Amino acid sequence: MKVFVKKEDCIGCGMCADVCPEVFEIGSDGYSDATGEPSAHYDKVMEAAEICPVNAIEVQ
Ligand code: SF4
Repeated sequence: MKVFVKKEDCIGCGMCADVCPEVFEIGSDGYSDATGEPSAHYDKVMEAAEICPVNAIEVQ
C-alpha cells in the first residue's frame, strides 16, 4: 500500500490528519504529508481518502 498527497490539490484543511494522525500530518508548508506505515492503518487511510474534500489523497 502506497499513499500520496497531491500537493497541488491539497487545501490544508487537516481532515485527513484528524482521521488518521498516524499517517497524515500537516507540514510546515501548510499541506498534508503522508508518512509512516499506511498499511498498518488501512481502514483509517481509506476513510481519510474518502473524506478529503478535494480528492488529494491517492492510494495505490
Ligand atoms: S483532507 Fe485533503 S485537502 Fe485536507 S489536508 Fe488532507 S489531503 Fe489536504
